[in-house]
Amino acid sequence: MQPRLRAMGTKQRSPVPRRALEAIRAFGGHSVVVTPDLRVVYQSSEADALPIVVGQVLTHPKLVQLARTAWRQGQAIVHHQKFTDLGPIEQAEVSATKLAGRCVLLTVTDLTATMRIEQVRHDLISNIGHELRTPVAAVQVIAETLDVAKDDPVAVERFSGRLKVEAERMGRLIEDILALAVAQDRNTERFTLVDLAEVVAEACRHEATRAQSEDITVDVIGATGPVEVMGDPSALVTAVDNLLDNAVSYSSRGSRVEVSLTVDQALGQGAIAVADFGIGIDPRDQVRIFERFYRSDRARSRRTGGTGLGLAIVKNVALGHGGTVSVRSRPGVGSTFIVTLPLATAEPDRPVAAPQTPEATV
Ligand code: ADP
Repeated sequence: MQPRLRAMGTKQRSPVPRRALEAIRAFGGHSVVVTPDLRVVYQSSEADALPIVVGQVLTHPKLVQLARTAWRQGQAIVHHQKFTDLGPIEQAEVSATKLAGRCVLLTVTDLTATMRIEQVRHDLISNIGHELRTPVAAVQVIAETLDVAKDDPVAVERFSGRLKVEAERMGRLIEDILALAVAQDRNTERFTLVDLAEVVAEACRHEATRAQSEDITVDVIGATGPVEVMGDPSALVTAVDNLLDNAVSYSSRGSRVEVSLTVDQALGQGAIAVADFGIGIDPRDQVRIFERFYRSDRARSRRTGGTGLGLAIVKNVALGHGGTVSVRSRPGVGSTFIVTLPLATAEPDRPVAAPQTPEATV
């Protein structure tokens, strides 16, 4: 849509100098030019979509107030605020500038998306701070206790063991924060041809000792030949590792975990499924477990050394590779997490179908 220069009547000349209008048009964005009595003499097509003008008159209360102030003071005013009456714009910077002619230019810069990103960043930083506070506080208490009990070798041994546990907890949290940063990076430049069979084998090797210590058998089934995708091998191993780690953590001793690798040539996708026969996940939690730091059972997660970031990493790795992750689970029966990835042979712009009937897919 072309920006509109409002009709001023046949005898009337536009109060906006032609050159100024050209500059405003070239600048783009949501802009309107009004006369001191609030008649709109120019409105960009973007501003057309906003509920700020009725007939040919500026009616939005905040914008009216800014236009009047700019007119009275003769100088530019910049105002930043939240809006509930500006259409899709929830936060904006509005500037009002008196132009050389007899009018005021109003520009509305939409900050809604920027502020949402800021909010997510702010929440992440405060969550990280909150998560680190617990082990740091524990380390402080243990260090003070050690100081008091330094002549008691039994107490020293016990508390130094706890010190190690807390240090490991902090180490895991830092490792997971860094892994999440890598997973959120959508840069595909470092992608190479990766065989998913090797990814599964590598992740199983990582988990072997822990699974053995819990007397849990890990069975690998499915595709034997190479299943090639374009990707970051270490990020993919981390993702499968996290799923296996959870499968072991949330199963009872002597249980079994199944990892399967399948190929669907018709859909052009490979799928890795990690199934356990453990505690399962309540349907209300299934939609939230991929959020950062969300745990359905905080105490259990802390006992098993979880950071609450494992599935957020899996989700971001899958999405960053053009894939999906989904979960099927029943409390008391077990859980299956499925990651699908487009095969390297798939056409680049071919849509990748989500797995069938997942309870929660992201
Ligand atoms: P955590 O480090 O707490 O395991 P994750 O992001 O890996 O964090 O998982 C989030 C939550 O999802 C866990 O705290 C747990 O409640 C639930 N969960 C994840 N995997 C499983 C599973 N295989 N079985 C049961 N619950 C699971």
